[in-house]
Amino acid sequence: MGDTIKTDVLIIGAGPCGLFAVFELGLLDMKVHLVDILDKIGGQCAELYPEKPIYDIPAIPLVTGQGLTDALLEQIKPFHPTFHLNEMVETIEKIGDPLFRVTTDAGQVFETKVVVISAGGGSFQPKRPPVPGIEAYEGTSVFYAVRKMEQFRDKDLLIVGGGDSALDWTLNLHPVARRVTLLHRRDDFRAAPHSVEQMRKLVAAGQMDLRIGQVTVLEGEGGRLTGAVIKGNDNESVRIDCNTILPFFGLTMKLGPVANWGVTLENNLIPVETASFETNVPGIFAIGDINTYPGKLKLILSGFHEGALMAQKAYHYVYPDKRLVFQYTTSSSNLQKKLGVN
Ligand SMILES: Cc1cc2nc3c(=O)[nH]c(=O)nc-3n(C[C@H](O)[C@H](O)[C@H](O)COP(=O)(O)OP(=O)(O)OC[C@H]3O[C@@H](n4cnc5c(N)ncnc54)[C@H](O)[C@@H]3O)c2cc1C
Repeated sequence: MGDTIKTDVLIIGAGPCGLFAVFELGLLDMKVHLVDILDKIGGQCAELYPEKPIYDIPAIPLVTGQGLTDALLEQIKPFHPTFHLNEMVETIEKIGDPLFRVTTDAGQVFETKVVVISAGGGSFQPKRPPVPGIEAYEGTSVFYAVRKMEQFRDKDLLIVGGGDSALDWTLNLHPVARRVTLLHRRDDFRAAPHSVEQMRKLVAAGQMDLRIGQVTVLEGEGGRLTGAVIKGNDNESVRIDCNTILPFFGLTMKLGPVANWGVTLENNLIPVETASFETNVPGIFAIGDINTYPGKLKLILSGFHEGALMAQKAYHYVYPDKRLVFQYTTSSSNLQKKLGVN
């Protein structure tokens, strides 16, 4: 790896909250590098639900996960952030007041005045259902995320789970797939009631199938699935034709190295104060899904707000001798110049 990179701020995690933080930091003249384990930018939005609509981004009635990521990238373009993808931050050492040495698993070293942890749930991994031999079908017939809906066109889909992901993908893929079967271990769903209602309407109209039970056997060869045996709660087993299974059993939040960074943890989350979202270590902030405080909501809009307040405090570490003047983008020609619009 190359020489040590010196920067004002290092952001760990290029999810939506890390991306918007670049904007807020950029308006205040702070130079940013971002590191992400994934090979793509956008965190959960890009990795788990790129084509799924989001309805609660303020003033944007509907945007997909990928659409939001693209819009954030467009918004932060004037600040030229540098991304280091496919790299995991492993260690953070305090070497000044505040100054940190941050190292990735690729051997890249950063020296940064401020660290912003926007690592979501850490390196998130889908939970594997307890079906013997499922590994042999992963990536060919069993998928834990939907990257491209077209991939499932005309497939016989078995979607497994009872939460929002299972129900949302049932409804979204129903027009694309040849046939969708939803399987859940009981006839009671954790998903949004509206989604459950829509699913039940499709079942009543004969447009999809709902089964209650669990997959016990997978049938197929060379990673190509041909069917699955489902054991019902009455212990009766039935075989159904299917060539693709999408299990949505939630994610295991594998925190990874965050636990060794010297910040206090509480149930695998980082407690922060709510004036600036700083951790117990001065100069290390935590925003987005990774932090916790009274009333925390794991929503993208919360992370946007947290990024704005974080930048105000980070400024004082990066420019200890300067006074920070609050300005609106609407009326400040100085901010507009930074945005390249004036
Ligand atoms: C199916 C689904 C639907 C959702 N719908 C909505 C919705 O409608 N509205 C809404 O507001 N929210 C929604 N959410 C939640 C929303 O996606 C999260 O709140 C948001 O992604 C959190 O953003 P973040 O930037 O904090 O973290 P993330 O998006 O989780 O990104 C964190 C990034 O950090 C990286 N990372 C972790 N550890 C390291 C490390 N050590 N080194 C380098 N990189 C690291 C990860 O690879 C990841 O890319 C939904 C979530 C899911 C799963």
